[in-house]
Amino acid sequence: MRSPTETETDDNLPIVIVGGGFAGLFAALHLRDLHSGPIILIDQTWCFVFKPLLYELLSSEVKLELICPRYDRLLHNTGITFVLGTVEAIDLDQKQVKLNGLTYSYRYLVLALGSTTSYFGIPGAKEHALSFRTGYDVFALGQHLRNRLQIATQTEDMEERRAMLTVAIG
Ligand SMILES: Cc1cc2nc3c(=O)[nH]c(=O)nc-3n(C[C@H](O)[C@H](O)[C@H](O)COP(=O)(O)OP(=O)(O)OC[C@H]3O[C@@H](n4cnc5c(N)ncnc54)[C@H](O)[C@@H]3O)c2cc1C
Repeated sequence: MRSPTETETDDNLPIVIVGGGFAGLFAALHLRDLHSGPIILIDQTWCFVFKPLLYELLSSEVKLELICPRYDRLLHNTGITFVLGTVEAIDLDQKQVKLNGLTYSYRYLVLALGSTTSYFGIPGAKEHALSFRTGYDVFALGQHLRNRLQIATQTEDMEERRAMLTVAIG
């Protein structure tokens, strides 16, 4: 049971949101309209990733800045504090989040950590496929495809060349 003193103190504590994807970022912006106290958004990367446009980034139809805007710019003048770091531990009893050697106490905690890539048991996919979720993934895939194309242009054997230029998408 929490004492009244603890509850009063709680009022001054922030809402802490871990994960700045669609869920976390929009929760932060929405809660800002409902809640007058401090809000902290934590993410392990500098930039929000607008994933539906990652394909257009790969095909160079849009620029990186459009797909991956920096959180500090997105949250400028919103009153929401951005903290860069990977959350390492959460103490639910003490209501604390730990990262970067620091502890953040919260009044309410929102976990919006997203998901990890699933390979759905497709044989060989995990070992050989490139994932496609982040700006880094897009550059890695673009680089890989360009390399294959360059090697293929110098390959005489048509079978080998065809194999090099064959892409499977899971
Ligand atoms: C290529 C692609 C195209 C897509 N297109 C569409 C579409 O057209 N329409 C649609 O509805 N959906 C689409 N989706 C799916 C959609 O992008 C996801 O459903 C959505 O991004 C999920 O949002 P989220 O906030 O739950 O998770 P995420 O976007 O994954 O965000 C989670 C965040 O948590 C952060 N994080 C994770 N662990 C930690 C930690 N320990 N500490 C700090 N931060 C952490 C991550 O850095 C990340 O920023 C697409 C997905 C992909 C990959």
